[in-house]
Amino acid sequence: MKNIILRNIENPNSHRIEEYIKAGGYFAIEHALNEMTPRDIIDDIKKSGLRGRGGAGFLTGTKWQFASLDPKFPKYIVCNADEGEPGTFKDRVILERNPHQLIEGMVIAAYALQSVRGYIYVRAEYPHVEKRLNDAIKEAYEKGFLGNDIMSKHFRFNLTVHRGAGAYICGEETALINSLEGRRGEPRIKPPFPVNAGAWAKPTIVNNVETFANIPYIIETSPKAYSFLGTKDSPGTKLFCVSGAVNKPGVYELPFGTPLREIIYDCCGGIRGGRALKGVIPGGLSTSILTPNDIDCPMDFANLAKHGSMLGSGAIIVLDDTMCIVKIYERAMRFFEHESCGKCTPCREGTSWMRTILGRIEDGMADMEDLAMLEDVALNVVGKTFCPLGDGAAHVLLSAMKRYRGEFEYHVKYKKCEVTDPSQRWGQLAMGELD
Ligand code: SF4
Repeated sequence: MKNIILRNIENPNSHRIEEYIKAGGYFAIEHALNEMTPRDIIDDIKKSGLRGRGGAGFLTGTKWQFASLDPKFPKYIVCNADEGEPGTFKDRVILERNPHQLIEGMVIAAYALQSVRGYIYVRAEYPHVEKRLNDAIKEAYEKGFLGNDIMSKHFRFNLTVHRGAGAYICGEETALINSLEGRRGEPRIKPPFPVNAGAWAKPTIVNNVETFANIPYIIETSPKAYSFLGTKDSPGTKLFCVSGAVNKPGVYELPFGTPLREIIYDCCGGIRGGRALKGVIPGGLSTSILTPNDIDCPMDFANLAKHGSMLGSGAIIVLDDTMCIVKIYERAMRFFEHESCGKCTPCREGTSWMRTILGRIEDGMADMEDLAMLEDVALNVVGKTFCPLGDGAAHVLLSAMKRYRGEFEYHVKYKKCEVTDPSQRWGQLAMGELD
């Protein structure tokens, strides 16, 4: 399998500019500046079919084109390195081990948009990454890949690392822009979209770390070579970060469309302790849970949607038969409640009420009316929030309640957890008394 993002990753000094150049790094910038116009670059990114890796999967080339067509200047290039989705640690690998590939992707984007200023917004919980990025940026300035006359081509681009303040919501692009500007990290109303009125009301593209890291490969090979990998709907490779009940958790670069079964059983060595698979959260906590029946789902944007979930950040969380679904979603809701920015009522109040009721169910204090109320609250949050945080929190809960209904009802009816009840199937599975 061809690695695009994790190439050279075995080299312990892969973060150093000399090693990156030795492995062919910064060739794409040279090629772009010498042989391509900004328009050529945008056309190539469009032809490649590259889709954003932050969660929404929007077409990167189209986003760049919208910003380039806007007559306002300056334009800003922003990298969203606020990797906060629970279960997600794939951008961290790029930031720590391959920072020059990200920088190179950003410089190419800057040339395509004729931007002179870029920012990498890095999450507060990655202080070591901030240092590594600053070291890499310093190296790139020294070698002439950043600065006021890049590669003596009269092209100027300056890059700054901006450390976030530790709020999950700042991973949402408009909240990130607010935070970058020194304002409270709250989402803005859209439209206008950042491509027209982003940072300081100027055209701004915000792309994920992994998205930028794909750019050099597309430019140094061809859009066709890139789109040859993966599937028609989702070209290229994807970094999947797998955690939970597997033997070999970690970050795996695989072509889009790789079946979930192959990722869990071949790459990750199967379920820890040989236990049974109970479910999979396929793209971070904000994506709907899949059941063992979905194990053959190809991992790409379109197929996950067909299975009622989303690719999200590509953070695969594997659950085995010892794990209680009610407990998992009570913890998840605590997270969403804590991270709700409070701007809109359905999310601020809804996440709090959902967490409270889930807590009652888990503690054996709930009755069937509570279950109905939980569903009612969630249904009243879905589609009524200002940004995807509240909507996602309610949505994932509703899908868990639908797919694992029996487990919620067992908690309410018997005031205990089916998973730890030795008289029940899940309980017997958990104790190793069934297959
Ligand atoms: Fe804030 Fe939640 Fe509303 Fe988003 S949905 S704006 S996080 S309160």
